[in-house]
Amino acid sequence: MSSDPVLIPFNRPSFAGPELTYVAQAVQRGHISGNGTFTREVEALLAQISGSPTALLTTSCTHALEMSARVLRLGPGDEVIVPAYTFVSTASAFALTGARPVFVDVSPLTLNLDVAAVEAAITPRTRAVCTVHYAGIAQDIDLLAELCSARGLVLVEDNAHGFGARFDGRLLGTFGQMATMSFHETKNVTCGEGGALAINDESLVALAEILREKGTDRARFLRGQVDKYTWVEVGSSWVASDMLAAFLLAQLESFEVIQGRRLAVWHAYDEQLRDWAARQGVRTPVVPLGAEHPAHMYYLRFDSLAQRSAFIAHLRQRQVMAVFHYQALNCSTVGMRLGGRPGDCPVSEEAADCLVRLPLFADMTPDELARVIEAVQEFRVPR
Ligand SMILES: *Cc1c(COP(=O)(O)O)cnc(C)c1O
Repeated sequence: MSSDPVLIPFNRPSFAGPELTYVAQAVQRGHISGNGTFTREVEALLAQISGSPTALLTTSCTHALEMSARVLRLGPGDEVIVPAYTFVSTASAFALTGARPVFVDVSPLTLNLDVAAVEAAITPRTRAVCTVHYAGIAQDIDLLAELCSARGLVLVEDNAHGFGARFDGRLLGTFGQMATMSFHETKNVTCGEGGALAINDESLVALAEILREKGTDRARFLRGQVDKYTWVEVGSSWVASDMLAAFLLAQLESFEVIQGRRLAVWHAYDEQLRDWAARQGVRTPVVPLGAEHPAHMYYLRFDSLAQRSAFIAHLRQRQVMAVFHYQALNCSTVGMRLGGRPGDCPVSEEAADCLVRLPLFADMTPDELARVIEAVQEFRVPR
């Protein structure tokens, strides 16, 4: 009987150590709803790592994006520019308010919003731009921020990939009025499902706190600023449980360790696959001058869907899971209902067909890493 090697997953959640101890502490303290001591510790640490003055823990990045849309009081008649190559939440959070997400193509270099294309898409109805730092590798975010401020638009950074990353020394998530983070299992630090809204414009904090607390001023009440709380806005419940905050605290305390391990995997891929990629005509990530990335993902870009499919099948045969992700949103069912058309965003549509992500997680073993690299190097691009 052949002994097949064990499948190397695309992602495996990594644990820092004290996660369960902290969760048990939350239970023992008798405070498992939101706004407990773990939430306060996490929010302080998030503000510190992200460089934003205020970070509000939420139930997901999707919910943080929804909060940002509601904080801006967006609604029917408003337009929000979003990249076509992103996860659906970047657009759906705005669509949920009745605003129209306008899909704009990305730069072929880094798959971040193309600033010239953003400028061309601005109309009198445009209120905001929501950008994504794809793979946490920023490009032209300074130019995008300048454009937004010159045209009176709010900039929101969907920073699900770029937590702790920088551009020209400045932390991603501090360029816009608001930024969101994700602590989903597939992100660099996780509590299973979770997120945060970072707020760089202090004038937006009070409303954000109210919306997160079902539209009540309960946050002010808890701080003793009002003597009873009441319904003051139409909000929702985006408060995360203190048990999840406890879990997340353990991960955040080990942030540097986690990042160090991920960066080691990323650089091993980049160094050991470079020659193979050049010979095979496969594109590897480009990190523009000034960008410091967080090793959120390592990807390869082929020339066609057929090449990518052959590559994924080749790795799968060697028990390695490689995955692709976003469909260009202008080609999706809802995207087309909102005005998107296939052909509008060629770079996004090409990336949707041709990009593949390699396994990358903090506790990848040297053996797993070597197996992935060897399996990739064995692949010959069919022409
Ligand atoms: C993961 C991700 C999200 C959604 O995060 P959740 O925490 O799962 O809601 C949104 N935007 C981008 C770019 C993401 O990668």
